[in-house]
Amino acid sequence: FTPMAPEKEAALAATPSDAPTIFDKIINKEIPSIVVYEDDKVLAFRDIAPQAPVHVLIIPKIRDGLTGLSKAEGRHCEILGRLLYTAKLIAKQEGLDEGFRIVINDGPKGCQSVYHLHVHLLGGRQLNWPPG
Ligand code: AMP
Repeated sequence: FTPMAPEKEAALAATPSDAPTIFDKIINKEIPSIVVYEDDKVLAFRDIAPQAPVHVLIIPKIRDGLTGLSKAEGRHCEILGRLLYTAKLIAKQEGLDEGFRIVINDGPKGCQSVYHLHVHLLGGRQLNWPPG
């Protein structure tokens, strides 16, 4: 018996849906988070269960149907580009000069647990490949 990683357990328990998520509460500052970057369109905060010394989530402030990357439409191209560009800015801000990783989990098989699109920025240690 191999216990399931809590992240995977959460992902398998999550139902893909349009319902509000915990990230709405973070955006509205109803629950605390450690914000590392914010502008009019994008919010970035530290992951509550970090998988690396630096683990930041970068999200659009307005979800606009982007529960996950698989729901992306043409109109989302601008925000998608902005999320990635913001990841680069934060990587620099966090001193990840020797490298980092961007991850977007999608759907149950991708271990997505929160249905509000988010880019994971991971770094600060040697990362392995392939991921699990
Ligand atoms: P994913 O599995 O790709 O959907 O990622 C969701 C991430 O959100 C996980 O890495 C969680 O640890 C993280 N998370 C969940 N709740 C919070 C919270 N309140 N503050 C910060 N990160 C959170």
